[in-house]
Amino acid sequence: MKNSILLFAIASMLFSCKKETSTASSSSTSGGSSSGSSSSSNTVPDIYTKIFGATSITSDGTYLTVKTKGIPSHKSCYWPTSNALYESFANGSTTFNGEIFSKAPNQIVDQSYTFKIPLKPAVNSAHSATPMGPIGFALDGVALYNQYAAGGVALGDEKKGFDQYYGHPQATGSYHYHVEPLYITKVKATKSSLVGFLLDGFPIYGPEENGATVAESALDAYHGHTAVTADYPNGTYHYHTTAVSPYINGNGFYGTPGTITN
Ligand SMILES: [Zn+2]
Ligand SMILES: [Zn+2]
Repeated sequence: MKNSILLFAIASMLFSCKKETSTASSSSTSGGSSSGSSSSSNTVPDIYTKIFGATSITSDGTYLTVKTKGIPSHKSCYWPTSNALYESFANGSTTFNGEIFSKAPNQIVDQSYTFKIPLKPAVNSAHSATPMGPIGFALDGVALYNQYAAGGVALGDEKKGFDQYYGHPQATGSYHYHVEPLYITKVKATKSSLVGFLLDGFPIYGPEENGATVAESALDAYHGHTAVTADYPNGTYHYHTTAVSPYINGNGFYGTPGTITN
């Protein structure tokens, strides 16, 4: 404890040469800040600069607004064949969890998402259920969906349609991941890395922590836990993707969800 205070003091001194408009007065919301990083109220905190697939990222001091087209920057067999990112993925190939791939007729189409998430996520005992459709976004701007297929049934055969990066478009062309976003955990970062945010503002990490697979039993009903991560040295609640259902989020949001429009 003493050490962390000392470290914080040192860090503060190190960063004091930066432009600092620290307004410590923004205690408008309940559930006090634990990290207290210094920035003016409308500055986008550094952690969100990891979102590389957004068309814009802004802050109003309470909410972060992330606009994305919802399209992957990686190859997929679901791009139109005329698109440079089209890459064949043969039926019979192996996809998520050893499922045998069978291509669906849908194609990827640009969306116009606006995700609004709380900058200071806080637990909400209501733990509202995740909606069908987007429940958050991955760092590449692609929507994250929950563990259900249309009608609220288990994903089942839908998994057979996951492409080489474990995503697929629905009939409207909206591309999404229900499971670990492989492009982020294998290409852009690692399986222990930050992979995105749910609508309640809490971060999601890959299936590992410090290189070790996170056991399902280590996670709560919402599919997360509170621990220190590389991005949150003071610790934070965060979700993990895992190989088995519910994959990303469990029985509802841990915190209060923001909004999404498309
Ligand atoms: Zn789906
Ligand atoms: Zn963790």
